[in-house]
Amino acid sequence: MPLHIHTFVFNDFGVNTYVLEADNRECIIVDAACHSANEEATLSGFISSKKLKPILHISTHPHIDHILGSAFIKREYNIPWLMHAEGTTLLKQSPMFASMFGLELSEINLPDRFISDNEKIDIGDSVCEILFTPGHAPGSVCLYFAAEKLVITGDVLFCGSIGRTDLPGGNTQTLLNSIAEKLLVLPNDTKVYPGHGPTSTIGSEKNENPYLM
Ligand SMILES: [Zn+2]
Ligand SMILES: [Zn+2]
Repeated sequence: MPLHIHTFVFNDFGVNTYVLEADNRECIIVDAACHSANEEATLSGFISSKKLKPILHISTHPHIDHILGSAFIKREYNIPWLMHAEGTTLLKQSPMFASMFGLELSEINLPDRFISDNEKIDIGDSVCEILFTPGHAPGSVCLYFAAEKLVITGDVLFCGSIGRTDLPGGNTQTLLNSIAEKLLVLPNDTKVYPGHGPTSTIGSEKNENPYLM
C-alpha cells in the first residue's frame, strides 16, 4: 500500500488524529486534536522520528475536540489548514464552545483554504477525494482514498454508530442522507477510520450498524 495510516487518540474526548504517510514521506494530518504539551510532543516526535514532511492539515469538521491542535500544527509546521467553508461560523464560535466544555483555547486561526465536494488532493502517489457529508456538523467532510480502499469518516459514521445531531447545525435526516449517498455507496471492503473509536468497514456498517437498519 503506497499510503500508511497512523492513529493517535488525543484529548479528553478521545479523538482519533490520523497521520497519512505517503511513500515519499509526505504526510497529511487529519483532525489534529492534540491538546496537552505531552500530546503535542507525541505527535511531533512521531513525525520527526519517521522523518515525515507534513504538507497539509485537514479537519473533518470544526467541533472543538477535533481542532484543539490546529494552532500547534500551524506554529510547528506552518502548513495550510483546510476545511469546508460551511464550518466557518461554527469555527468562529469555538472559544465559546471551549469554555462550555471547560477547555482552554488560547488562539483560534481560520482555515487557509476551503475544500469542496469531490475535490481531489494529491499526497505522494495517492489521491484523497473530499466527500461533503453534512448532518453532524456544518461543513462535515469525509476523506476517501479509492485506490487504498479507506475512508476517514470524522463524526459522520462510527463502528456501530453514527454522529450525534443534537449540536448546533445538526440534522438527523441530513446525516442519514449523507451516509446513504456518500458512504454506503463505497465498496464493501473499504476500511472506515472514524473520528472516535475503532475502525470498521463499509460492508459491516451496512449490515450491522443499528442506526442504518
Ligand atoms: Zn463532532
Ligand atoms: Zn468528535
